[in-house]
Amino acid sequence: MTAPPIDDASGFADLGLRPELLQALTTLGYEEPTPIQRESIPPIIEGRDLLGQAATGTGKTAAFALPVLQRLTVGGTDPTALVLVPTRELAMQVSEAIHRYGRELGARVVPIYGGQPIVRQLQALKHGVDVIVATPGRALDHLKRRTMSLDSIRIVVLDEADEMLDMGFAEDIEALLQATPDDRQTVLFSATMPPRITGIVKRHLREPVRIEIKREAAEAGASPQVRQSAYVVPRSHKPAALGRILDVEAPTAAIVFCRTRHEVDSLTETLNGRGYRAEALHGGMDQGQRDRVMNRLRAGAAELLVATDVAARGLDIDQLTHVVNYDVPSAPESYVHRIGRVGRAGREGVAITLAEPREHRMLKNIERITKQRIEIAKVPTIADLRNRRMEGTLASVRESIVSDDLDHFRVVVETLTDEFDLMEIALAAVKLAHEASVGSDDDQVEIPEVSLQEERKGSKPDRTKVGAKPSRVGQGMTRLYINAGRAARIRPNDIVGAIANETRLSGRDIGAIEITDQFSLVEVPDDAVDEVIARVNASTIAGKKRSIRRERFDPKSG
Ligand code: AMP
Repeated sequence: MTAPPIDDASGFADLGLRPELLQALTTLGYEEPTPIQRESIPPIIEGRDLLGQAATGTGKTAAFALPVLQRLTVGGTDPTALVLVPTRELAMQVSEAIHRYGRELGARVVPIYGGQPIVRQLQALKHGVDVIVATPGRALDHLKRRTMSLDSIRIVVLDEADEMLDMGFAEDIEALLQATPDDRQTVLFSATMPPRITGIVKRHLREPVRIEIKREAAEAGASPQVRQSAYVVPRSHKPAALGRILDVEAPTAAIVFCRTRHEVDSLTETLNGRGYRAEALHGGMDQGQRDRVMNRLRAGAAELLVATDVAARGLDIDQLTHVVNYDVPSAPESYVHRIGRVGRAGREGVAITLAEPREHRMLKNIERITKQRIEIAKVPTIADLRNRRMEGTLASVRESIVSDDLDHFRVVVETLTDEFDLMEIALAAVKLAHEASVGSDDDQVEIPEVSLQEERKGSKPDRTKVGAKPSRVGQGMTRLYINAGRAARIRPNDIVGAIANETRLSGRDIGAIEITDQFSLVEVPDDAVDEVIARVNASTIAGKKRSIRRERFDPKSG
């Protein structure tokens, strides 16, 4: 079996990026731009303003970081690029990414966020910096103290703009934008486009290029008979989680998709180290190497193929039972292509996705586009794994009793019966067989259970939490957004009253309430969401008609 040839020209070069940046991408093992990168990089390099609708996991950080770096004047005294992000975690992450992409250019990046001693940030700013990555609150602090100047900023990026607004940063963002020169370039990324984002766009972006990850429906029946599930796992636990899932799923043959060549190489090594028979396939390998890999897979000498999208394009593997996305694919279309490789010819296939807590929006996008549900599954626990392994041993022993000629072991058992009873002998023999086939599971550590909401932890919202009820979103409760808050003199009692008067819910059923200047959030039980939205919208809160809806703007649910 031969592997289809790979077009080795780096798709990034076609986008007009400088050699230093191309070199950085090759070093990182990126093989081709993601859709959002392909569409965003050229216009930002040209100097156009840009409005992009994209979630985490689409590769949007590189989509703005690369062109920002391309346009950077490195080595000046004042920063020329400002990136605003909602949380401290994201500030660190984005700043690390820009540092990695900009290393060859010598770009100096500083993250500025609340919670870190301001003195350290002052020192960094004093030493000279090219790109500031900041949360709006802390950036404004520096601006007011005159410890940071935005006078020479040439380009501003607002990343996850909807999140920043939800966290009450609207005024801070306005103040920061006012402090930058009028003729700067502005780039805004947001997963959703509620009216408040449109307002910012109208005020601060000039004839922006608009980019949206397409929401075309997948072809009907594009993914037949495929059981789809996702596991939410922190990055550091992914290799262990994958191993455990593979043990429980026991695929005949599986492709594990990774984003970069490096990830392919390092995961292949990890999996082989854990006793799987895994082969790597990526664009950095020559045709001969790739053909040998495919032959080993075909011959059953390997059970796992760890591959990038580019390398796996056009492969058709008959015995494939499982497709694993080691990361959420950067575009829903590539999810559809990947899982289309199993479940063919009426056979059942399984698609498994490992998602980091932050990547929940990508999963939602994929569900919307494929019109299929992806079940969120629990990573098997150590106990699950032990049970599964025990079942395996049981099956092997049973098979051996039925089909093997065991007679020449009789002498061993008979000798032992002089000393021990049969049960003990059997137990010891099973233990040896078990350990010989599955090894010991002493090295297993429990993988923590995380939810898709975990990302909000550690962020510092500018909201008033009302009462002591903790948030229970994702645990039977859904958060609803009301378009009125403190400025409209809304109090918690108004919200509780409106809901309790109009619906079957009582005050006790209503969960956490938060009230900000411009809007309020209230949690209600999942099964009452539609009722609350319908009834409260038809009625009033604090004497006036208000709009209440699910927290996120979703074109379908309005
Ligand atoms: P983001 O959506 O920016 O959070 O990026 C998600 C992940 O994809 C990050 O780990 C990036 O390093 C990775 N990534 C971004 N662009 C590419 C690309 N073109 N090829 C491979 N990996 C990428």
